Amino acid sequence: MHHLHPALIGTYETVLRRNAGEVEFHQAVLEVLESLHAVVEKRPEYVEASIIERICEPERQIIFRVPWVDDQGVVQINRGFRVNFNSALGPYKGGLRFHPSVYLGIIKFLGFEQTFKNALTGMPIGGGKGGSDFDPKGRSDAEIMRFCQSFMTELYRHIGEYTDVPAGDIGVGGREIGYLFGQYKRITNAYEAGVLTGKGLTWGGSQARKEATGYGTVYFVKEMLDAHGEGFDGRRVVVSGSGNVAIYAVEKAQEFGATVVAVSDSNGYVVDEGGIDLDLVKQIKEVQRGRISEYAVARTSARHIAGGSIWDVPCDVALPCATENELSAEGAAALVKGGVKYVGEGANMPTTPDGIRVLHEAGVHYAPGKAVNAGGVATSALEMQQNASRDSWSFDYTDQRLHKIMKGIHDNCLETADEFGQPGDYVAGANIAGFIQVADAMLALGVI
Ligand code: GLU
Repeated sequence: MHHLHPALIGTYETVLRRNAGEVEFHQAVLEVLESLHAVVEKRPEYVEASIIERICEPERQIIFRVPWVDDQGVVQINRGFRVNFNSALGPYKGGLRFHPSVYLGIIKFLGFEQTFKNALTGMPIGGGKGGSDFDPKGRSDAEIMRFCQSFMTELYRHIGEYTDVPAGDIGVGGREIGYLFGQYKRITNAYEAGVLTGKGLTWGGSQARKEATGYGTVYFVKEMLDAHGEGFDGRRVVVSGSGNVAIYAVEKAQEFGATVVAVSDSNGYVVDEGGIDLDLVKQIKEVQRGRISEYAVARTSARHIAGGSIWDVPCDVALPCATENELSAEGAAALVKGGVKYVGEGANMPTTPDGIRVLHEAGVHYAPGKAVNAGGVATSALEMQQNASRDSWSFDYTDQRLHKIMKGIHDNCLETADEFGQPGDYVAGANIAGFIQVADAMLALGVI
């Protein structure tokens, strides 16, 4: 069941047929197409030039074998992906995800979302995404390095400062970007810093990039609260996940005076009523690369609920910062019961369509990942700017730029939602504003 403008039904059916079984991609496309009702009415030229159908078809999809040798001397084979989704606004830009769930449908959904997210930042970057079904869990540092080197030995020929600029995503952080950049530099014999973002601070990285997705998420939600005359101070906040996005969302929410009471990982969640001790989370996750259950062992005030749903924890603000489809209708209903007023997505597509419906019907202020979590990629674009000018900016300056960009995205979403007759609807605002930006560039560039 869908609510599509009649002019878009054929496009959606083509997406279903061409991308059979890729359910996450179908979900991401449907959400955007459902937002375009008023756009189709006001701007028929997009349909006439088949812009909407074209925007759903990636420009290029690369799939490759990644062979490597594990610590036992056994040969392992993984599959690598890079989807060049849309380059109307700039070089393809988007992260790499290393996770066993990765297949073409996941990379396509992420690349599609990335295209509109990147447009919303206002920076000159197209959309792309990549990764592998490689599972980094339990792998030694040497294995991670050999995998990254093998992955880049194929990927290097497809990327470049002006072509495609990967970065991190789930399972890919500073360590992996280091090994990937090292291998790229070795193969090409060029110090092409702008080919990857999320680099370390001593070798071309940007201040505040590591923090940017989490900080940006909280900056966006702060604007949502402001718009209703409220603030973070004294709020109960729940943040799902405990990876890079979650950690820096917790840090900024705490700085703004919120009490973050729970975080999670794929095994369960921890509740610490006095407020999460972020140094301990960082120690467990960033240094030891361990499980969040260890938090409750180290801190007696906390409880670990194995296999539980973090959405059962009552809160004012919920920030899903783990992964796609982690917040279902059931989770959303639990959040509503617990008194949630605001939901801002730090992850990509963490709320299911049914979950979104439950939040909407309950009057919860909800904003989607492609707007809320755009601070990560926006700061990647700032990293590219610094690399292009061989410059390096201070933390404060970069963070101010990030803050301004997030406020800009927030205001653009609300203004666009107003203009197209759906006031207060951040989903419509984000989808329409991102779409128009890309679509107008595509129109100008002709049939390519
Ligand atoms: N993977 C992140 C995202 O979803 C960052 C991408 C980037 O910095 O290129 O936006």
